[in-house]
Amino acid sequence: MTPEEFRRHGHAAVDWVAGYMERVESLPVLSTVEPGWVRSQLPAHAPLAPEPFDAVLADVDRIIMPGITHWQSPNFFAYFPCNASGPSILGELLASGLGVQGMLWASSPACTELETHMLDWMVELLDLPRHFLSSGDGGGVIQDSASSATLCAVVAARERVTAGAAGRTGARAPLTAYASGHAHSSVEKAVRIAGLGSTNLRTVDVGGRLDPDELDRAIRADLDAGRLPAIVVATLGTTSTNLFDALPRIGEVCRSHGVWLHVDAAMSGVAALCPEFRHLTAGLEHADSYCTNPHKWLGVNFDCDLFWLRDRAALISALSILPEYLRNQASESGTVIDYRDWQIPLGRRFRALKLWFTLRCLGVEALQAMIRRHVALATGLAARIEAHPDFELAAPVPLNLVCLRHRGGDAVNQQIMDSVNRSGAAYLTHTRVDGRLVLRLSIGSPATEARHVDGVWSLLQAAAAAAITPG
Ligand code: PLP
Repeated sequence: MTPEEFRRHGHAAVDWVAGYMERVESLPVLSTVEPGWVRSQLPAHAPLAPEPFDAVLADVDRIIMPGITHWQSPNFFAYFPCNASGPSILGELLASGLGVQGMLWASSPACTELETHMLDWMVELLDLPRHFLSSGDGGGVIQDSASSATLCAVVAARERVTAGAAGRTGARAPLTAYASGHAHSSVEKAVRIAGLGSTNLRTVDVGGRLDPDELDRAIRADLDAGRLPAIVVATLGTTSTNLFDALPRIGEVCRSHGVWLHVDAAMSGVAALCPEFRHLTAGLEHADSYCTNPHKWLGVNFDCDLFWLRDRAALISALSILPEYLRNQASESGTVIDYRDWQIPLGRRFRALKLWFTLRCLGVEALQAMIRRHVALATGLAARIEAHPDFELAAPVPLNLVCLRHRGGDAVNQQIMDSVNRSGAAYLTHTRVDGRLVLRLSIGSPATEARHVDGVWSLLQAAAAAAITPG
Protein backbone atom coordinates (compact mmCIF):
# COMPACT_ATOMS: atom_id res chain seq x y z
CA MET A 1 0.00 0.00 0.00
CA THR A 2 1.61 3.25 -1.07
CA PRO A 3 1.25 6.33 1.13
CA GLU A 4 -1.27 7.73 -1.36
CA GLU A 5 -3.35 4.52 -1.26
CA PHE A 6 -3.05 4.50 2.51
CA ARG A 7 -4.44 8.04 2.63
CA ARG A 8 -7.45 7.05 0.49
CA HIS A 9 -8.21 3.80 2.31
CA GLY A 10 -7.45 5.41 5.64
CA HIS A 11 -10.12 8.01 4.98
CA ALA A 12 -12.56 5.19 4.16
CA ALA A 13 -11.63 3.36 7.37
CA VAL A 14 -12.04 6.50 9.49
CA ASP A 15 -15.39 7.16 7.77
CA TRP A 16 -16.38 3.63 8.62
CA VAL A 17 -15.52 4.12 12.32
CA ALA A 18 -17.31 7.49 12.44
CA GLY A 19 -20.37 5.88 10.86
CA TYR A 20 -20.18 3.10 13.43
CA MET A 21 -20.15 5.65 16.25
CA GLU A 22 -23.27 7.22 14.76
CA ARG A 23 -25.21 3.98 14.37
CA VAL A 24 -23.97 1.82 17.27
CA GLU A 25 -27.00 2.72 19.39
CA SER A 26 -29.33 1.24 16.78
CA LEU A 27 -27.56 -2.13 16.62
CA PRO A 28 -28.59 -5.18 18.71
CA VAL A 29 -26.12 -5.01 21.60
CA LEU A 30 -25.39 -8.71 21.97
CA SER A 31 -24.12 -10.74 19.03
CA THR A 32 -26.31 -13.77 18.45
CA VAL A 33 -24.16 -15.71 15.96
CA GLU A 34 -23.81 -19.43 16.58
CA PRO A 35 -20.35 -20.78 17.46
CA GLY A 36 -18.38 -21.34 14.23
CA TRP A 37 -20.53 -19.03 12.07
CA VAL A 38 -17.83 -16.38 11.58
CA ARG A 39 -15.24 -18.97 10.55
CA SER A 40 -17.72 -20.64 8.23
CA GLN A 41 -17.85 -17.37 6.25
CA LEU A 42 -14.09 -17.13 5.82
CA PRO A 43 -12.11 -18.82 3.03
CA ALA A 44 -10.08 -21.83 4.17
CA HIS A 45 -6.81 -20.35 2.90
CA ALA A 46 -5.17 -16.93 2.91
CA PRO A 47 -5.14 -15.03 -0.42
CA LEU A 48 -1.95 -15.21 -2.47
CA ALA A 49 -2.80 -12.13 -4.53
CA PRO A 50 -3.83 -8.74 -3.12
CA GLU A 51 -7.53 -7.97 -2.78
CA PRO A 52 -9.07 -4.50 -3.02
CA PHE A 53 -9.40 -2.65 0.29
CA ASP A 54 -13.08 -1.98 -0.45
CA ALA A 55 -13.71 -5.73 -0.58
CA VAL A 56 -12.06 -6.20 2.80
CA LEU A 57 -14.13 -3.40 4.32
CA ALA A 58 -17.28 -4.88 2.81
CA ASP A 59 -16.46 -8.20 4.47
CA VAL A 60 -16.17 -6.42 7.80
CA ASP A 61 -19.83 -5.50 7.40
CA ARG A 62 -20.85 -8.92 6.09
CA ILE A 63 -18.80 -11.30 8.26
CA ILE A 64 -17.39 -9.44 11.24
CA MET A 65 -20.23 -7.16 12.29
CA PRO A 66 -22.75 -9.94 12.97
CA GLY A 67 -20.19 -11.41 15.38
CA ILE A 68 -19.65 -8.19 17.31
CA THR A 69 -21.11 -7.50 20.73
CA HIS A 70 -21.28 -3.73 20.89
CA TRP A 71 -19.27 -2.68 23.91
CA GLN A 72 -19.53 0.95 22.78
CA SER A 73 -23.33 0.90 22.70
CA PRO A 74 -25.00 3.21 25.23
CA ASN A 75 -27.15 0.17 26.03
CA PHE A 76 -24.16 -1.97 27.01
CA PHE A 77 -24.42 -2.65 30.76
CA ALA A 78 -22.52 -5.95 30.94
CA TYR A 79 -19.26 -6.88 32.72
CA PHE A 80 -17.47 -3.50 33.08
CA PRO A 81 -17.06 -0.48 30.82
CA CYS A 82 -14.52 -0.66 28.03
CA ASN A 83 -14.35 2.95 26.91
CA ALA A 84 -13.29 4.13 23.49
CA SER A 85 -13.13 7.75 22.41
CA GLY A 86 -12.29 9.66 19.25
CA PRO A 87 -9.02 11.15 20.53
CA SER A 88 -7.91 7.80 21.90
CA ILE A 89 -8.63 6.00 18.62
CA LEU A 90 -6.63 8.63 16.76
CA GLY A 91 -3.79 8.28 19.28
CA GLU A 92 -3.81 4.53 18.55
CA LEU A 93 -3.72 5.25 14.83
CA LEU A 94 -0.65 7.42 15.18
CA ALA A 95 1.02 4.86 17.46
CA SER A 96 0.40 2.23 14.77
CA GLY A 97 1.71 4.53 12.08
CA LEU A 98 4.88 5.25 14.00
CA GLY A 99 5.23 1.55 14.79
CA VAL A 100 7.95 2.06 17.39
CA GLN A 101 9.14 -0.35 20.04
CA GLY A 102 9.51 1.39 23.39
CA MET A 103 11.45 -1.33 25.17
CA LEU A 104 14.42 0.96 25.90
CA TRP A 105 14.61 4.71 26.27
CA ALA A 106 17.13 4.59 23.41
CA SER A 107 14.77 2.63 21.14
CA SER A 108 12.42 5.66 21.01
CA PRO A 109 12.94 8.32 23.68
CA ALA A 110 9.53 9.99 23.20
CA CYS A 111 7.73 6.72 23.86
CA THR A 112 9.35 6.44 27.29
CA GLU A 113 9.30 10.10 28.28
CA LEU A 114 5.68 10.77 27.34
CA GLU A 115 4.68 7.66 29.30
CA THR A 116 6.60 8.73 32.41
CA HIS A 117 5.07 12.18 32.13
CA MET A 118 1.51 10.84 31.72
CA LEU A 119 1.90 8.64 34.78
CA ASP A 120 3.10 11.67 36.76
CA TRP A 121 0.14 13.70 35.48
CA MET A 122 -2.20 10.95 36.61
CA VAL A 123 -0.68 10.90 40.12
CA GLU A 124 -1.71 14.53 40.39
CA LEU A 125 -5.11 14.09 38.73
CA LEU A 126 -6.08 11.13 40.94
CA ASP A 127 -4.44 12.73 44.00
CA LEU A 128 -2.29 9.65 44.58
CA PRO A 129 0.53 9.44 47.12
CA ARG A 130 3.53 11.40 45.90
CA HIS A 131 5.78 8.35 46.38
CA PHE A 132 4.40 7.12 43.03
CA LEU A 133 5.98 10.05 41.17
CA SER A 134 8.93 9.28 38.91
CA SER A 135 11.03 11.94 40.64
CA GLY A 136 11.66 9.71 43.68
CA ASP A 137 12.32 5.98 44.13
CA GLY A 138 8.97 5.01 42.61
CA GLY A 139 7.25 5.73 39.34
CA GLY A 140 4.61 4.52 36.96
CA VAL A 141 4.34 2.49 33.79
CA ILE A 142 1.55 1.55 31.38
CA GLN A 143 0.78 -2.17 31.37
CA ASP A 144 -1.55 -3.87 28.92
CA SER A 145 -3.94 -4.90 31.68
CA ALA A 146 -4.56 -4.98 35.41
CA SER A 147 -3.75 -8.70 35.29
CA SER A 148 -0.22 -7.92 34.12
CA ALA A 149 0.12 -5.22 36.78
CA THR A 150 -0.82 -7.70 39.48
CA LEU A 151 1.62 -10.26 38.11
CA CYS A 152 4.38 -7.63 38.17
CA ALA A 153 3.45 -6.76 41.76
CA VAL A 154 3.66 -10.41 42.80
CA VAL A 155 7.02 -10.82 41.07
CA ALA A 156 8.37 -7.65 42.72
CA ALA A 157 7.08 -8.73 46.14
CA ARG A 158 8.65 -12.16 45.65
CA GLU A 159 11.94 -10.49 44.81
CA ARG A 160 11.80 -8.32 47.90
CA VAL A 161 10.89 -11.00 50.41
CA THR A 162 13.54 -13.43 49.16
CA ALA A 163 16.20 -10.75 48.63
CA GLY A 164 16.32 -11.71 44.99
CA ALA A 165 16.75 -15.45 45.48
CA ALA A 166 13.34 -16.61 44.27
CA GLY A 167 13.89 -15.62 40.65
CA ARG A 168 17.37 -17.09 40.48
CA THR A 169 17.74 -20.17 42.64
CA GLY A 170 14.17 -20.65 43.85
CA ALA A 171 12.75 -19.71 47.24
CA ARG A 172 13.79 -21.82 50.21
CA ALA A 173 10.47 -21.52 52.02
CA PRO A 174 6.98 -21.42 50.51
CA LEU A 175 5.80 -17.88 49.77
CA THR A 176 2.25 -16.87 50.63
CA ALA A 177 -0.22 -14.32 49.27
CA TYR A 178 -3.45 -12.91 50.71
CA ALA A 179 -6.60 -11.49 49.15
CA SER A 180 -10.35 -11.53 49.63
CA GLY A 181 -12.50 -14.19 48.01
CA HIS A 182 -13.88 -11.41 45.80
CA ALA A 183 -10.47 -10.39 44.47
CA HIS A 184 -10.20 -10.69 40.69
CA SER A 185 -9.20 -14.07 39.25
CA SER A 186 -6.02 -12.41 37.95
CA VAL A 187 -4.66 -12.56 41.51
CA GLU A 188 -4.75 -16.36 41.55
CA LYS A 189 -3.44 -16.42 38.00
CA ALA A 190 -0.51 -14.23 39.09
CA VAL A 191 0.43 -16.39 42.08
CA ARG A 192 0.31 -19.45 39.84
CA ILE A 193 2.50 -17.89 37.16
CA ALA A 194 4.95 -16.47 39.71
CA GLY A 195 5.32 -19.93 41.26
CA LEU A 196 3.77 -19.22 44.67
CA GLY A 197 1.02 -21.69 43.85
CA SER A 198 -2.74 -21.43 44.30
CA THR A 199 -2.63 -23.33 47.57
CA ASN A 200 -0.47 -20.58 49.04
CA LEU A 201 -3.05 -17.92 48.26
CA ARG A 202 -5.02 -17.29 51.45
CA THR A 203 -8.58 -16.04 51.26
CA VAL A 204 -9.08 -13.77 54.26
CA ASP A 205 -12.35 -11.94 54.04
CA VAL A 206 -15.52 -11.27 55.94
CA GLY A 207 -18.51 -10.72 53.68
CA GLY A 208 -16.29 -10.48 50.63
CA ARG A 209 -14.04 -7.72 52.02
CA LEU A 210 -10.47 -8.36 53.02
CA ASP A 211 -10.53 -8.40 56.80
CA PRO A 212 -7.57 -6.79 58.63
CA ASP A 213 -7.83 -8.99 61.74
CA GLU A 214 -8.15 -12.21 59.73
CA LEU A 215 -5.25 -11.01 57.62
CA ASP A 216 -3.09 -10.39 60.65
CA ARG A 217 -3.90 -13.86 62.02
CA ALA A 218 -3.19 -15.56 58.69
CA ILE A 219 0.16 -13.80 58.29
CA ARG A 220 1.18 -14.72 61.85
CA ALA A 221 0.19 -18.37 61.30
CA ASP A 222 2.26 -18.54 58.12
CA LEU A 223 5.27 -16.94 59.82
CA ASP A 224 4.98 -19.43 62.70
CA ALA A 225 4.92 -22.28 60.19
CA GLY A 226 8.11 -21.05 58.52
CA ARG A 227 6.46 -19.67 55.42
CA LEU A 228 7.27 -16.29 53.89
CA PRO A 229 4.31 -13.91 53.55
CA ALA A 230 5.05 -12.08 50.29
CA ILE A 231 2.08 -10.01 49.19
CA VAL A 232 -1.38 -8.80 50.10
CA VAL A 233 -3.66 -7.79 47.22
CA ALA A 234 -6.44 -5.44 48.27
CA THR A 235 -9.23 -4.45 45.90
CA LEU A 236 -10.88 -1.08 45.57
CA GLY A 237 -14.00 -1.96 43.62
CA THR A 238 -14.42 -5.70 43.22
CA THR A 239 -15.52 -7.02 39.84
CA SER A 240 -18.56 -8.82 41.15
CA THR A 241 -20.26 -6.13 43.27
CA ASN A 242 -17.84 -3.17 43.56
CA LEU A 243 -16.85 -3.76 47.19
CA PHE A 244 -14.01 -1.69 48.67
CA ASP A 245 -11.50 -3.26 51.04
CA ALA A 246 -10.70 -1.27 54.19
CA LEU A 247 -7.35 -0.04 53.00
CA PRO A 248 -6.15 2.03 55.97
CA ARG A 249 -6.24 -0.87 58.44
CA ILE A 250 -5.04 -3.43 55.90
CA GLY A 251 -2.13 -1.12 55.16
CA GLU A 252 -1.18 -1.00 58.83
CA VAL A 253 -1.16 -4.81 59.05
CA CYS A 254 1.03 -5.05 55.93
CA ARG A 255 3.41 -2.45 57.26
CA SER A 256 3.69 -4.14 60.68
CA HIS A 257 4.77 -7.39 58.99
CA GLY A 258 6.74 -5.81 56.15
CA VAL A 259 4.50 -7.44 53.56
CA TRP A 260 4.06 -5.89 50.09
CA LEU A 261 0.64 -4.31 49.59
CA HIS A 262 -0.68 -4.20 46.03
CA VAL A 263 -3.97 -2.40 45.45
CA ASP A 264 -6.13 -3.33 42.45
CA ALA A 265 -8.61 -0.59 41.51
CA ALA A 266 -8.99 -1.66 37.89
CA MET A 267 -12.34 -0.01 37.23
CA SER A 268 -13.13 2.20 40.19
CA GLY A 269 -9.77 3.87 40.73
CA VAL A 270 -10.34 6.43 37.98
CA ALA A 271 -13.31 7.80 39.92
CA ALA A 272 -10.72 9.61 42.07
CA LEU A 273 -10.54 12.11 39.22
CA CYS A 274 -13.51 13.64 41.07
CA PRO A 275 -12.56 14.91 44.56
CA GLU A 276 -15.91 13.79 46.01
CA PHE A 277 -15.05 10.12 45.34
CA ARG A 278 -11.54 10.19 46.77
CA HIS A 279 -12.69 8.88 50.14
CA LEU A 280 -13.01 5.51 48.36
CA THR A 281 -9.26 5.36 47.78
CA ALA A 282 -8.27 6.48 51.29
CA GLY A 283 -5.33 4.53 52.67
CA LEU A 284 -3.38 4.35 49.41
CA GLU A 285 -0.40 5.89 51.16
CA HIS A 286 0.26 2.35 52.48
CA ALA A 287 0.41 0.79 49.01
CA ASP A 288 3.66 -0.52 47.57
CA SER A 289 1.98 -0.75 44.18
CA TYR A 290 -1.29 0.34 42.65
CA CYS A 291 -3.15 -0.05 39.39
CA THR A 292 -6.19 1.35 37.65
CA ASN A 293 -7.46 1.12 34.06
CA PRO A 294 -8.26 4.18 31.93
CA HIS A 295 -9.28 1.56 29.34
CA LYS A 296 -12.25 0.71 31.48
CA TRP A 297 -13.75 4.02 32.52
CA LEU A 298 -11.62 6.97 31.40
CA GLY A 299 -12.20 7.20 27.67
CA VAL A 300 -8.98 5.45 26.64
CA ASN A 301 -9.14 2.45 24.33
CA PHE A 302 -7.97 -0.94 25.53
CA ASP A 303 -5.17 -1.51 26.42
CA CYS A 304 -4.12 1.00 29.04
CA ASP A 305 -3.53 -0.01 32.65
CA LEU A 306 -1.65 2.44 34.86
CA PHE A 307 0.68 0.76 37.33
CA TRP A 308 2.67 2.60 39.98
CA LEU A 309 5.34 1.47 42.42
CA ARG A 310 6.50 3.07 45.65
CA ASP A 311 9.99 1.74 44.96
CA ARG A 312 10.78 0.45 41.49
CA ALA A 313 13.99 -1.33 42.56
CA ALA A 314 12.45 -4.72 43.37
CA LEU A 315 10.58 -4.98 40.06
CA ILE A 316 13.60 -3.96 38.03
CA SER A 317 15.81 -6.34 39.95
CA ALA A 318 13.33 -9.17 39.27
CA LEU A 319 12.89 -8.51 35.56
CA SER A 320 16.13 -7.02 34.31
CA ILE A 321 18.31 -9.33 32.23
CA LEU A 322 20.70 -7.51 29.92
CA PRO A 323 21.86 -9.28 26.77
CA GLU A 324 24.67 -7.67 24.80
CA TYR A 325 22.42 -6.67 21.91
CA LEU A 326 20.38 -4.33 24.16
CA ARG A 327 23.35 -2.54 25.72
CA ASN A 328 23.50 1.17 25.01
CA GLN A 329 25.10 4.30 26.39
CA ALA A 330 21.90 5.89 27.66
CA SER A 331 20.97 2.83 29.76
CA GLU A 332 24.47 2.60 31.12
CA SER A 333 24.44 6.25 32.11
CA GLY A 334 21.70 5.39 34.62
CA THR A 335 19.79 8.54 33.73
CA VAL A 336 16.95 7.00 31.69
CA ILE A 337 14.08 4.59 32.25
CA ASP A 338 14.05 1.36 30.25
CA TYR A 339 10.47 0.16 30.57
CA ARG A 340 11.33 -3.35 29.35
CA ASP A 341 12.43 -3.93 32.97
CA TRP A 342 9.01 -2.90 34.32
CA GLN A 343 6.92 -5.50 32.46
CA ILE A 344 6.92 -9.16 31.36
CA PRO A 345 7.47 -8.82 27.58
CA LEU A 346 10.41 -7.04 26.00
CA GLY A 347 8.53 -5.16 23.27
CA ARG A 348 6.03 -2.46 24.03
CA ARG A 349 3.62 -0.24 22.15
CA PHE A 350 3.43 3.54 22.31
CA ARG A 351 0.32 3.48 24.54
CA ALA A 352 0.94 6.85 26.18
CA LEU A 353 -0.09 8.64 22.98
CA LYS A 354 -3.75 7.66 23.33
CA LEU A 355 -3.84 8.72 26.99
CA TRP A 356 -2.21 12.05 26.09
CA PHE A 357 -4.62 12.62 23.21
CA THR A 358 -7.60 11.78 25.41
CA LEU A 359 -6.59 14.08 28.26
CA ARG A 360 -5.77 16.95 25.91
CA CYS A 361 -8.65 16.68 23.43
CA LEU A 362 -11.43 15.87 25.90
CA GLY A 363 -10.02 17.71 28.89
CA VAL A 364 -10.16 16.56 32.50
CA GLU A 365 -13.44 18.37 33.19
CA ALA A 366 -15.31 16.38 30.52
CA LEU A 367 -13.98 13.13 31.96
CA GLN A 368 -15.03 14.20 35.46
CA ALA A 369 -18.46 15.06 34.08
CA MET A 370 -18.76 11.60 32.49
CA ILE A 371 -17.88 9.84 35.74
CA ARG A 372 -20.30 12.03 37.71
CA ARG A 373 -23.06 11.39 35.17
CA HIS A 374 -22.61 7.62 35.38
CA VAL A 375 -22.58 7.66 39.18
CA ALA A 376 -25.70 9.83 39.26
CA LEU A 377 -27.45 7.46 36.83
CA ALA A 378 -26.48 4.47 38.97
CA THR A 379 -27.62 6.01 42.25
CA GLY A 380 -30.86 7.19 40.60
CA LEU A 381 -31.56 3.68 39.38
CA ALA A 382 -30.67 2.25 42.80
CA ALA A 383 -33.29 4.51 44.40
CA ARG A 384 -35.95 3.24 41.96
CA ILE A 385 -34.99 -0.36 42.66
CA GLU A 386 -35.22 0.18 46.41
CA ALA A 387 -38.68 1.72 46.00
CA HIS A 388 -39.95 -1.18 43.86
CA PRO A 389 -41.92 -3.92 45.62
CA ASP A 390 -40.46 -6.80 43.56
CA PHE A 391 -36.83 -5.81 43.10
CA GLU A 392 -34.09 -5.27 45.66
CA LEU A 393 -30.50 -4.08 45.67
CA ALA A 394 -28.03 -6.91 46.15
CA ALA A 395 -25.08 -4.67 47.10
CA PRO A 396 -24.38 -1.04 47.98
CA VAL A 397 -23.89 1.30 44.98
CA PRO A 398 -20.83 3.42 45.74
CA LEU A 399 -20.21 4.30 42.08
CA ASN A 400 -21.50 3.08 38.72
CA LEU A 401 -22.30 -0.61 39.27
CA VAL A 402 -25.86 -1.56 40.25
CA CYS A 403 -26.39 -5.09 41.52
CA LEU A 404 -30.04 -6.03 41.76
CA ARG A 405 -32.29 -9.03 42.14
CA HIS A 406 -35.92 -9.81 41.62
CA ARG A 407 -37.42 -11.22 44.79
CA GLY A 408 -38.83 -14.14 42.80
CA GLY A 409 -35.63 -16.20 43.03
CA ASP A 410 -32.86 -17.42 40.73
CA ALA A 411 -35.02 -18.87 37.97
CA VAL A 412 -36.97 -15.63 37.60
CA ASN A 413 -33.78 -13.56 37.57
CA GLN A 414 -32.28 -15.82 34.93
CA GLN A 415 -35.38 -15.47 32.78
CA ILE A 416 -35.33 -11.69 33.18
CA MET A 417 -31.70 -11.45 32.11
CA ASP A 418 -32.12 -13.83 29.16
CA SER A 419 -35.16 -11.95 27.97
CA VAL A 420 -33.48 -8.51 28.12
CA ASN A 421 -30.35 -9.81 26.39
CA ARG A 422 -32.31 -11.64 23.68
CA SER A 423 -34.19 -8.45 22.88
CA GLY A 424 -30.98 -6.84 21.63
CA ALA A 425 -32.09 -3.57 23.23
CA ALA A 426 -29.67 -3.87 26.15
CA TYR A 427 -27.07 -6.26 27.50
CA LEU A 428 -26.34 -7.10 31.14
CA THR A 429 -24.51 -9.90 32.92
CA HIS A 430 -24.77 -11.59 36.30
CA THR A 431 -22.84 -12.67 39.37
CA ARG A 432 -23.62 -14.73 42.46
CA VAL A 433 -23.80 -13.27 45.96
CA ASP A 434 -24.16 -15.74 48.84
CA GLY A 435 -25.06 -18.37 46.27
CA ARG A 436 -27.90 -16.33 44.77
CA LEU A 437 -28.09 -15.07 41.20
CA VAL A 438 -27.66 -11.30 40.98
CA LEU A 439 -28.06 -9.08 37.92
CA ARG A 440 -25.32 -6.53 37.30
CA LEU A 441 -25.84 -3.25 35.50
CA SER A 442 -22.52 -1.56 34.88
CA ILE A 443 -23.13 2.01 33.72
CA GLY A 444 -19.99 3.28 32.00
CA SER A 445 -20.34 3.77 28.28
CA PRO A 446 -19.44 7.39 27.34
CA ALA A 447 -22.70 7.59 25.35
CA THR A 448 -25.01 6.32 28.09
CA GLU A 449 -27.60 8.89 29.17
CA ALA A 450 -30.64 8.86 31.43
CA ARG A 451 -32.91 7.62 28.63
CA HIS A 452 -30.80 4.46 28.19
CA VAL A 453 -30.94 3.66 31.90
CA ASP A 454 -34.67 4.38 31.90
CA GLY A 455 -34.95 2.03 28.94
CA VAL A 456 -33.17 -0.90 30.56
CA TRP A 457 -35.13 -0.39 33.79
CA SER A 458 -38.39 -0.60 31.80
CA LEU A 459 -37.12 -3.72 30.04
CA LEU A 460 -36.27 -5.35 33.37
CA GLN A 461 -39.71 -4.62 34.78
CA ALA A 462 -41.46 -5.86 31.63
CA ALA A 463 -39.34 -9.02 31.58
CA ALA A 464 -40.13 -9.59 35.26
CA ALA A 465 -43.86 -9.24 34.63
CA ALA A 466 -43.61 -11.78 31.78
CA ALA A 467 -41.49 -14.16 33.86
CA ILE A 468 -43.91 -14.34 36.77
CA THR A 469 -47.07 -14.47 34.64
CA PRO A 470 -47.59 -18.15 33.66
CA GLY A 471 -48.10 -18.71 29.91
N1 PLP B 1 -9.21 -6.37 38.67
C1 PLP B 1 -10.49 -6.00 38.77
C2 PLP B 1 -11.02 -5.49 40.07
C3 PLP B 1 -11.33 -6.07 37.64
O1 PLP B 1 -12.61 -5.70 37.74
C4 PLP B 1 -10.80 -6.56 36.43
C5 PLP B 1 -11.65 -6.69 35.24
O2 PLP B 1 -12.85 -6.73 35.32
C6 PLP B 1 -9.46 -6.93 36.39
C7 PLP B 1 -8.69 -6.83 37.53
C8 PLP B 1 -8.83 -7.45 35.15
O3 PLP B 1 -8.61 -6.38 34.29
P1 PLP B 1 -7.72 -6.54 32.98
O4 PLP B 1 -8.64 -6.99 31.91
O5 PLP B 1 -7.19 -5.16 32.75
O6 PLP B 1 -6.66 -7.52 33.26
